[in-house]
Amino acid sequence: TFKAILISRDEDKKQSVAVTEISDADLMEGDVTVAVDATTVNYKDGLAITGKSPVVRRFPMVPGVDFAGTVLSSSHPDWKEGDKVVLNGWGLGETHLGAYAAKARVKGDWLVPLPEGMSARTAMAIGTAGYTAMLSVMALERHGITPDRGPMIVTGAAGGVGSVAISLLSKLGYHVIASTGRPAESTYLHDLGAAEIIAREELSGLAKPLNKERWAGGVDSVGSHTLANVLSMTSYGGAIAACGLAQGMDLPATVAPFILRGVSLLGIDSVMAPKALRLEAWQRLGTDLDHAKLEALSTPIGFDDIIQAAHDIVEGKIRGRVVVEM
Ligand code: NAP
Repeated sequence: TFKAILISRDEDKKQSVAVTEISDADLMEGDVTVAVDATTVNYKDGLAITGKSPVVRRFPMVPGVDFAGTVLSSSHPDWKEGDKVVLNGWGLGETHLGAYAAKARVKGDWLVPLPEGMSARTAMAIGTAGYTAMLSVMALERHGITPDRGPMIVTGAAGGVGSVAISLLSKLGYHVIASTGRPAESTYLHDLGAAEIIAREELSGLAKPLNKERWAGGVDSVGSHTLANVLSMTSYGGAIAACGLAQGMDLPATVAPFILRGVSLLGIDSVMAPKALRLEAWQRLGTDLDHAKLEALSTPIGFDDIIQAAHDIVEGKIRGRVVVEM
């Protein structure tokens, strides 16, 4: 047997979470078995463990939506024993037993190679949140949003997606405006590369259809009124990558920014992202992310601290990223 976190449900559908032991026989179908070397806690893991949103769709479930690991055995043509791999999304920790266990059995098609020269720990300091920030930046680039177009807004700045987005955008030469509800994290955000910091409250109330143009683009991990305000302040021809819902899943906006300013809303999904996009994102995370900054934004925690971190992240109390080494 080996250590795992298990989410169970009783007859009344009441959810409980415990650190326990499971065995190989408990693992689900898959053609590759992996020893988990490192994992992390994302917002979605927080939703799963607290039961705040219906993320988990099979019980019992081992939560954890991403890991970096070493292949133990494989019948998949792309992978052999000893290969270093990364997995995020594809229903891991939602429909398929996830990362919070010493071992995982998964589909080889879901795996990407750990980028050259990157450690398991670094990959999980990035994790789904960082990879989503990269997908967002790539979408903005595809839309032609270059640093000379104007400033970039990053909402939920001190969170995981936000922290990595700031680091990436500043390294790529953009002028970054960080929106945070935690003014005490100003130094942290400046150190990551934010040129300006604004208060969360400036963007979290009811949005006007259009407002003064303040940025050419941005990465929004907050949704709801915040995204509506961000859109209303985006300059002509700009684009916003929408990837999160920390404030809410609603979008109380008007079409005014789209039809009067040609603004675009770019949807970002990390879970089902096709393999080519994943490979490009992980490769660029290896080259475009300042490793000293990544070190500064990540905090190591133990396996037994995961459940507490899951509660903390949904309460907005986690700064940057946490890393769990097995
Ligand atoms: P996180 O570390 O908790 O970051 C979220 C940040 O949002 C918080 O740190 C906080 O930043 C801000 N925030 C929290 N509650 C808020 C509220 N009520 N109003 C306004 N701002 C609020 O979470 P994460 O892992 O970075 O994920 C961020 C979001 O992206 C989540 O909604 C997650 O589900 C989503 N996500 C989506 C994908 C995808 O595939 N599309 C992938 C990964 C994550 P400040 O303290 O700085 O204000």
